[in-house]
Amino acid sequence: MRQYETVIGLEVHVELSTQTKIFCGCSTRFGAPANANTCPVCTGMPGALPVLNRKVVEYALALGLAMNCKVNQYCCFDRKNYFYPDNPQNYQISQLYLPICRDGEIEIEAAKGKKIVRIHEMHMEEDAGKLIHDEELGCSLVDYNRSGVPLLEIVSEPDMKNAEEVIAYLEKIKMLCQYLGISDCKLQEGSMRADVNLSVRPIGSAELGTRTEMKNLASFRAITKAIEVERARQIGLLEAGGQVEQETRRWDENKECSYPMRSKEDAKDYRYFPDPDLQPVMISDEWLERVKKEIPEFAPDKKLRFQAEYGLSEYDAALLTQNRHVAGLYEETVKLSNNPKKTANWFMGECMRLLKEKGMDAKELKFTPKHLADLILSLDKGEINQEIAKAVFERIFEEDIEPLAYMKVNNLLMISDTAAIEAAVDEAMKENAKVVEEYRSGKEKVLGFLVGQVMKRTKGMASPGMVTEMLKAKL
Ligand code: ADP
Ligand code: MG
Ligand code: ZN
Repeated sequence: MRQYETVIGLEVHVELSTQTKIFCGCSTRFGAPANANTCPVCTGMPGALPVLNRKVVEYALALGLAMNCKVNQYCCFDRKNYFYPDNPQNYQISQLYLPICRDGEIEIEAAKGKKIVRIHEMHMEEDAGKLIHDEELGCSLVDYNRSGVPLLEIVSEPDMKNAEEVIAYLEKIKMLCQYLGISDCKLQEGSMRADVNLSVRPIGSAELGTRTEMKNLASFRAITKAIEVERARQIGLLEAGGQVEQETRRWDENKECSYPMRSKEDAKDYRYFPDPDLQPVMISDEWLERVKKEIPEFAPDKKLRFQAEYGLSEYDAALLTQNRHVAGLYEETVKLSNNPKKTANWFMGECMRLLKEKGMDAKELKFTPKHLADLILSLDKGEINQEIAKAVFERIFEEDIEPLAYMKVNNLLMISDTAAIEAAVDEAMKENAKVVEEYRSGKEKVLGFLVGQVMKRTKGMASPGMVTEMLKAKL
């Protein structure tokens, strides 16, 4: 059998987290009652006119620049005509002839090291509504809340070779979007959707094979499995002397196989034409510059800087820079705690544990960096012990309490007053005279018991080290 290599190109849709839709003022909020977020524009009423949401252009520019694209400062919207009940206008407003961005590239990191994936183009478009097939009622219902939600479609060149690279590519886009704050890119929830174009060719061949396009891949697991199955299917066809049909296939996650949706022969002619209701978009140099200036430091650079500046391990730095908000909170806290390592431990330990336990997203973290820094300093000075610190941190995490005041009011501070500890030591020695005798006659093991007695009298609020020293001195 000949040896084959896989060639993959991706079309990725990213749903933007703008407050309102791309061509009307309706809310984009997910989970509203069916058709609550609609108006004549996004339900395709005759005569209703679209008005472009400026934020969508801004978000597109930010991602385009982050992917090193060329920006078409003069770009246009086109109508892609087709009938489907979830598409009330009978056309989708998209960009075909002059997309906002072209010719970019991003670096991905897979097992074999770093690699560049070229971006063919990126364009803005509107999402369609949603059909709900109700078996009980024996009919289909339509919800237009999603109709008109802004999307960016990113089309790669066929530069990927396996599932691992595809996942690294998607993770990279996700990171860029999350750092830019333009989308949360959740495959499972549909805010990121990937269509996988795949072909195979004999190793060494310069020509591309015929590709198929797979839709409906809603998880990394599905993507991995679909690539494996489709590669084997295409090789099987070729080895049996057959040909691969250029077609769109739908992946069935449960059956773990794909089946044809439509072939090239009945590929739709969408009769694209420039949308006469929308003016061309003109992006001034000033606007572009403004967006450029606001592009943040992204995770890979931040990770390297965290290692260099804070002396963190690569693993710790990677974990702390996974989310831009967490990375920012960490840096603010370090400025005040002056202790990069201990601060990192709080973020990676207790903080992540609580996020997980409460099923929260890292972007929901809302405590004041000074509060965690104060807690770390207090622990360092021995004013509290680890266990109390954890309990206080939970209050900071949940309600952003001011730890010093909170510990004072709740009597959580260690007794630093030597007189008070001395009194407790004296009392413990007096009440355990027999044990004291045993110690003095050489049975040093009983010291632990005496320390325990003092701790009990101070309700655990004395430093065990200090108590031991004081006991030894008096014994
Ligand atoms: P269409 O507009 O018909 O979907 P495009 O030429 O825009 O086709 O390609 C869509 C995607 O398919 C791109 O991501 C591209 O990289 C990828 N692609 C094109 N040809 C191949 C091929 N032979 N093998 C794998 N992927 C391909
Ligand atoms: Mg396509
Ligand atoms: Zn609307």
